[in-house]
Amino acid sequence: MGKFTVFYTALLLGVQLSFAQAPKKNSSSDIYHSLQKLNFLGSALYIAAHPDDENTRLISYLSNHDKARTAYLSLTRGDGGQNLIGPELRELLGVLRTQELLAARRVDGGQQFFSRANDFGYSKHPDETLDIWNKKEVLGDVVRIIRKFRPDVIINRFDHRSPGTTHGHHTSSAMLSVEAFDLVNDAKAYPNQLTSLKPWQPKRLFFNTSWWFYGSQEKFEKADKSKMLNFDVGVYYPTLGVSNNEIAALASSQHLCQGFGRLATRGSQNEYIELLKGDMPDSKSDIFAGINTKWSRVDGGEAIGQILYAIEKDFDFANPSAHLPQLLQAHQLISTLEDAHWKEIKLKEIEDIILSVSGIYLEASAVEASSNPGEKVGLNIEVLNRKATAVAIDRLELSTGMVLDSTIALQENQRIQLEKEIEIPATTDYTSAYWLNSKGTLGMYQVEKAEWIGKPETPRAVHANFVLNFDGYPLDIKRPVVYRYARPDKGELYQPFEILPPATASFDDKVLIFADGKAKRIPVTIKAHKDNLKGEVQLDYSQGWVVDAETKPFEIAKKGDEQVVVFSLTPPENQDESRISPIIKVNGKEIRKELVTIAYDHVPTQSILLPSEAKVVRLNIERLGENIGYIMGAGDDVPTSLEQIGYNVITVDPAAIQKGSLDKFDAVVVGIRAYNVVNELKFKQRYLLDYVNEGGNLIVQYNTAGRWNKQFENIAPYPLKLSRDRVTDENSTVSIIAKKHALVNFPNPIEEKDFEGWVQERGLYFPNEWNSEFTPILSMNDKGESAKKGSLLVAPYGKGHYIYTGLSFFRELPAGVSGAYKLFANMLSLGKEKVENPNDVKG
Ligand SMILES: [Zn+2]
Repeated sequence: MGKFTVFYTALLLGVQLSFAQAPKKNSSSDIYHSLQKLNFLGSALYIAAHPDDENTRLISYLSNHDKARTAYLSLTRGDGGQNLIGPELRELLGVLRTQELLAARRVDGGQQFFSRANDFGYSKHPDETLDIWNKKEVLGDVVRIIRKFRPDVIINRFDHRSPGTTHGHHTSSAMLSVEAFDLVNDAKAYPNQLTSLKPWQPKRLFFNTSWWFYGSQEKFEKADKSKMLNFDVGVYYPTLGVSNNEIAALASSQHLCQGFGRLATRGSQNEYIELLKGDMPDSKSDIFAGINTKWSRVDGGEAIGQILYAIEKDFDFANPSAHLPQLLQAHQLISTLEDAHWKEIKLKEIEDIILSVSGIYLEASAVEASSNPGEKVGLNIEVLNRKATAVAIDRLELSTGMVLDSTIALQENQRIQLEKEIEIPATTDYTSAYWLNSKGTLGMYQVEKAEWIGKPETPRAVHANFVLNFDGYPLDIKRPVVYRYARPDKGELYQPFEILPPATASFDDKVLIFADGKAKRIPVTIKAHKDNLKGEVQLDYSQGWVVDAETKPFEIAKKGDEQVVVFSLTPPENQDESRISPIIKVNGKEIRKELVTIAYDHVPTQSILLPSEAKVVRLNIERLGENIGYIMGAGDDVPTSLEQIGYNVITVDPAAIQKGSLDKFDAVVVGIRAYNVVNELKFKQRYLLDYVNEGGNLIVQYNTAGRWNKQFENIAPYPLKLSRDRVTDENSTVSIIAKKHALVNFPNPIEEKDFEGWVQERGLYFPNEWNSEFTPILSMNDKGESAKKGSLLVAPYGKGHYIYTGLSFFRELPAGVSGAYKLFANMLSLGKEKVENPNDVKG
């Protein structure tokens, strides 16, 4: 699906989509489109909170219809969501979604920015959001990006006036945008930014409204629209061969990890924006009305406009290179502009057009995907002039040093191919996502270099500077060094050229639970990023833990190969939580990083270096029963976690469930959202309840409300109604309300402190109505809300027990949260106390 989308889009727009690293190859229509954009001097910034919040119809309309510089500022990278296409979660999901946004912008022609805010998970209210984010810093980032991008108009996706009606991140994005609009031109606001940026006042601020914000189409039709602009975003672009909404659909279909692949739509469609600040334009369909977006906007621009508007008017589609002399003349005039902002933007744009019309191809590709600081790497350099234009290459300078300093004339379609070896300077930084280089807080990423704030990616470490000579007129063209290769099953591919440490190390398990005092094997996988790697590895661990050897040697002959070194780790006697890290020592250098590669067809391959570590937990935990049956739902790691505390977990195929087939299990656990996603369960539910009736112990984890109520009325043995109740604050107070119940006493006594150290949330989709057979065990709520008692419900049924829980065990157990393990062990042990413990403490 991803592959198809990319291929289709590449055909459609003539741009290199997945291949952000590849040189552009533009058709006459593409060049004409770029020329129209070159001749428009206006900018629009769209602001929201997450990848996928952005309205690609409007972004594409502004970029392709109005021809404006258009950007999307997503305050977060979407780290807190789900991933429908692979295992990446949290910060790695943020990396993937960053790339999906960049892929979307390559389709709709926009640019992409981010703030340092972390998508920490669902938030009900902007007050909570702005409490967890550092409001001053995120607002500062919005101000910085506006001062840098200098938009004439800003458009908010969300309404700043309706806190509590949508995700708190959404409302916060709008509130911060409104606040920033009044600050950006104030030299006293964030004055530190003004060493490199200037104050700037956008003309207008809008809210991208729609009927959805009014509740219904009818209500919206009746709404006062005197402050609204509207455009037909269904326009058709003949030179591109597509309509705006087709581009928009392809752009939002890049959000594949969110399952956003969708059909294109065609035909007329209205889009509304409501003016919040600034003057109302006199045209209700032109957001830039009254703003000078012509070349006369800049001092010295008139003469440039005279040349470039003439080219646009009489563009020669059959032979665009006919315009080269005038384009070079315009380039020369642009390079003398005093307005540094427009000069930089327009020089870059016109240089791309000059290269395109003259059919110049420039590429510097490394022979390997990665190298290390201080190492040598081979480069293939290709320079080609595909038109009869008088061009020479005067110089080729890599960021690592000069590789060619004599002039070579470029004959028509005669390829120049150079093979050069360069040495990566020993001081070069590793290439990795800059916002993950150091540990941030729950709400904020930490960024070392202020000039990186807002950037979607880390600037590439190694690039080539081609100095061309157009019959006496010099042009410097900078290109990142790429890695180009072919795969028999995929064809030609490009990916970023990476600078990596000589070796990285990782643990198989990120969380290790020691349920008794026995030592565990800790395999450390060492991956070589150079040939003939030799060194030693040691474990960094806390006091009380014991390792079998301080250091162990390793030796790997080939780059890309791995070696596993096994340590033995013995836990302390008493309950403890700490972290272990592998430290690799090569040539006196210490490396504590792990390499994670993210590879999909629709985005460039990403290499991410993360701190290599695992959490080790010594649990004093009691448990009863041995064999657990697990019915997988939407997918969770709970079975692995239960195995870590000594249970034997067997995955149960729902299709194979029949009367009596579950009797061998001490307990049966139903995975998250199983009743939402496993249709078969509808027919098997009676066997599950039979199992309980006969003395079994059934634990059902959260399902989403909706489908449940219609299709699964018999999900529990007694009436139970799901709701959207959730408790998102993982630090919210939890009260034990059934203090005498076995679930909080046997075999592990549960206290309120067992709810400390939980991650992301308490739980979700709690039932809010239940039959009197159920006993609610816990009570909890988010700040300012009523107490929710449906997070853990238990009822006897026949000879057994039925438990329903919306607590987020699927997050807490993989994160090694001790209290969650104890409570889960109690759920699995329920009913066993009658045999093993004659003093029934059930209450
Ligand atoms: Zn969102």
